[in-house]
Amino acid sequence: MKKSVLIIVCVILIVVLGIGLNRCDILGSSKKLLEKVSKEPPKATVCIDAGHGFADVGCESPYLEGYEKDVTIKIAKLLKTELESRNIKVVLTHDGKKFPSCDEILKGVNKYGLEYDSTRLIENNNFSAYERVIYANVVNETEPIDLLVSLHINSIENHPELSQYELYYYENNPHAAELKELCESLEDAFDNDTKTAVTAADESYTVTRYTEYPSLLVEMGYATNREDAQKLNSEKWRKEYVKTLAEQIQKFTDKY
Ligand SMILES: [Zn+2]
Repeated sequence: MKKSVLIIVCVILIVVLGIGLNRCDILGSSKKLLEKVSKEPPKATVCIDAGHGFADVGCESPYLEGYEKDVTIKIAKLLKTELESRNIKVVLTHDGKKFPSCDEILKGVNKYGLEYDSTRLIENNNFSAYERVIYANVVNETEPIDLLVSLHINSIENHPELSQYELYYYENNPHAAELKELCESLEDAFDNDTKTAVTAADESYTVTRYTEYPSLLVEMGYATNREDAQKLNSEKWRKEYVKTLAEQIQKFTDKY
């Protein structure tokens, strides 16, 4: 009698242990599969530059909540999340909290022998557009950038009626033709939302001027226009906006 009880207990133990081990195996292999999926190398690298920041607040208006820099960093972070969900690697020129010193930037430009104008690198509480683009060029040496996107908000005095998005790329960028195509597809994608003006800009636009890789400056509306500012203030609109932007960026990086 005791012997048979012992045998039954042993059988139950073997069955339970067997199921347990199998379960571990199933969990283990599905975990491995998940790791494999998430470890797929990113399809491209996009550098997002939140326009302004720190002592440079950007534009302001009675309609906009906070300064331009407060809204551009929020949209930059949303765009980062959206692009990462599409397996695109994102680097930010800054996160709104800290930025590299001129010394750090100089170390990088010297290491890689990059061109720069030392008189435009100034150590202060301001990460200027020039410093941001030179920093992006340093990053590009170890993390080749497929596209730089600089996010801004426009403003104009005495023209509260003016409402539009604006896209700028440098007319002499080696990828000007591809950038033009990207701008046109963005223009179509934003068609239902707001009128979009595309400009092949001259040398006066810093972030688009000093890169060899594709670079795009996006003006996401006018802070001085009540409706544009209302959109920019809205988290819901910002999420929709970055989705449209990310969709077209993904098409661009898939193609080029
Ligand atoms: Zn700006």
